[in-house]
Amino acid sequence: MKKCSLKFKLTILYTLFMTLLTCISLGIIFSLSNQEVLSSVRSDLEKQVYQSLDEVKITDGEIDIDSDFYDLEDGVYLSIYNSDGKFLFGRLPYSFNSVPEFREGEIQTIQDTTTLWYVFDTSCTSDYPETLYIRGITSVTKAENSMRITQHFALILLPLLVFLTAILGYLFTRHTLMPVRQITETVQNIRKDEDLSQRVGLGRGTDEIYHLSETFDQMLEQIEASFLREKRFTSDVSHELRTPVSVILAQCDEMLTQDNLSEAQIQQISRIKRKADEMAQMISRLLTLSRADQGRQKLQLEYLNLSELTEMTAEEQQILAEERNINILTDIEPDIYAWVDESFYIRLLVNLISNAIYYNRENGYVKIALSQKREKIICSIEDNGIGIASEHLPHIWERFYRIDSSRTNGSHSGLGLSMVQWIVKAHGGTISADSCPGKGSCFTFSLFRKKNVF
Ligand code: ADP
Repeated sequence: MKKCSLKFKLTILYTLFMTLLTCISLGIIFSLSNQEVLSSVRSDLEKQVYQSLDEVKITDGEIDIDSDFYDLEDGVYLSIYNSDGKFLFGRLPYSFNSVPEFREGEIQTIQDTTTLWYVFDTSCTSDYPETLYIRGITSVTKAENSMRITQHFALILLPLLVFLTAILGYLFTRHTLMPVRQITETVQNIRKDEDLSQRVGLGRGTDEIYHLSETFDQMLEQIEASFLREKRFTSDVSHELRTPVSVILAQCDEMLTQDNLSEAQIQQISRIKRKADEMAQMISRLLTLSRADQGRQKLQLEYLNLSELTEMTAEEQQILAEERNINILTDIEPDIYAWVDESFYIRLLVNLISNAIYYNRENGYVKIALSQKREKIICSIEDNGIGIASEHLPHIWERFYRIDSSRTNGSHSGLGLSMVQWIVKAHGGTISADSCPGKGSCFTFSLFRKKNVF
């Protein structure tokens, strides 16, 4: 039941409740109407017997009976008996064979093989030498049968009623829960598009769900505002830091051109320059990412030979690899062309290859493979370095996420893979990482040959 939707549960509950209510109501109605029918049968019987007294006349000791006496009014059979119980006149039901004893003014219930009868007697004493009895007989079974037909009809209609109730219940629940679905869809869209500007927007209503949606929209408003503040802060800080860092770098370059510097001074200035360089790199990444967040970072797409570009970048990284005795191997299919932004494509490769070198081991390798499958271009950068534990793997794309910050130097600030992911996504591609701690990692991204940029 836990797996069922709220809509389904409410429909079932509603249908069960309505069915129970209908059954109870029908039960009460049938039992009351049964009693009502039986009491009306009894009163009709008494009325017909008493009325028949006017239809029996004694003239000169002879019994004179009006023809109306033989009518089956209200289904009542009327007959006349003498005091010995001998049938004199009248009509008897075909299957009524017994002659129950006379009980004046009292309704008797007589059951024969198939039918239940009500029998009512009254006496007529006027001008006749002996007491005459007028007997009324009516069938209870007949009255009950017509009741039973109504009951059967109701029982046949009941499943239809249940079905209709279920349909109505479902439609009603669906309509009531529509705003909840809208809230869920908004949340899903926000997650999918990573777009906090979306709102539920149910408008103004008075019920609890409208209130919930309004509160939800207000909360989204606040979250979006704080995200925007954070983005603006990152962008402002990066902008403000860019000028002083450029000044430091320029000053370092100028100082290093002076001839009268001691060896120690040269080393100190070089260290300052190196750190300022790392800072400049980090600021540049931050600026790119914050421009990307604001949708201002545009790609300059060109139809380029990716095979050559990848080969060239791999060669450039060779110097860094050799410093650490790491072998770069390439398996690049020739003449793969695609629409890419050249500088961002190179940054993407440099980031992945430099990571593969940096997080590698002495005498390790880095394999760079590029291939094309129909319209899809697949590139993988594999190493047999330290690897990434599975609990860290989902987070490596986050900004400033570093698995072991003590192991990394200033040029590895934890922004590289965020940049990489943005570059691939901006080109309409996908990227994933596989890794096994102690054995190595493999980063694979795929792009499309044609323009696939959002
Ligand atoms: P950084 O600039 O610090 O390298 P990245 O965003 O490029 O940051 O990478 C995030 C983290 O992912 C790194 O701190 C590192 O621990 C891990 N990582 C990235 N690439 C590899 C790799 N090829 N092998 C092992 N760990 C890696």
